[in-house]
Amino acid sequence: MRIAIFGDIHANLEALEAVLDDASKQAVTDFVCIGDVVGYNADPVACLENLRQMECPTVKGNHDEDASGSHSLESMNPVAAAALEWTRGQLNADQCLWLRRLRMVRQIADFTVVHSTLDQPAHWNYVTNRFDAMANFSYQFTQVCFHGHTHVPRVYTKSDKVHEVPADSIIVEKTAKYFVNVGSVGQPRDGDWRSCYAIYDTDHQLIVFRRVEYDIAKTQAKILAAGLPPMLAERIAEGR
Ligand code: ZN
Repeated sequence: MRIAIFGDIHANLEALEAVLDDASKQAVTDFVCIGDVVGYNADPVACLENLRQMECPTVKGNHDEDASGSHSLESMNPVAAAALEWTRGQLNADQCLWLRRLRMVRQIADFTVVHSTLDQPAHWNYVTNRFDAMANFSYQFTQVCFHGHTHVPRVYTKSDKVHEVPADSIIVEKTAKYFVNVGSVGQPRDGDWRSCYAIYDTDHQLIVFRRVEYDIAKTQAKILAAGLPPMLAERIAEGR
């Protein structure tokens, strides 16, 4: 099987379509989403309906939770909160329910997916170094686990110790566990504006990261036309 693992789409339809198109050209047969379908950008409904139509297994991200709830967003970063308030106004009851019912953790084939970490999936912890990754490994019972949340592709391995290895092409060795951040489709933050996702080739035990260009000008125009904070249009061009 060749499985595309992708997420942090954040309502960026042009980026999502470019990734799905690239994955088809790479002979991908299955798709799995690590969450944050909505938030920040201007196409929450189209992105959500796309995944729903594909029957793509999806776990819940913090923006999915916030967009489908009615709690106060006051304690959040004001730009993220403004986008979430706007997103709440776009979703119908059925779409809200779809987001609300997403599970925090899923096992697909022989691997696990979670938006943030397996040790405390509802706490939305950020994994930015190998020490953050250690807690996750204590709760990781599959050899490979994919996640997102930081919007930065990263790979941690655990054999005797936990190491970070470069996120490019990874051979999955039988003697180690892997905790893999697949980066972000709709709002990369590693300085590269192109959409990021990973392909897991289970027959060859290989994980490959892909970067895909999309029509960013179109996405930016939609953000501005929707009245969303202009900095959201600027940041996607800078990959931050
Ligand atoms: Zn996100």
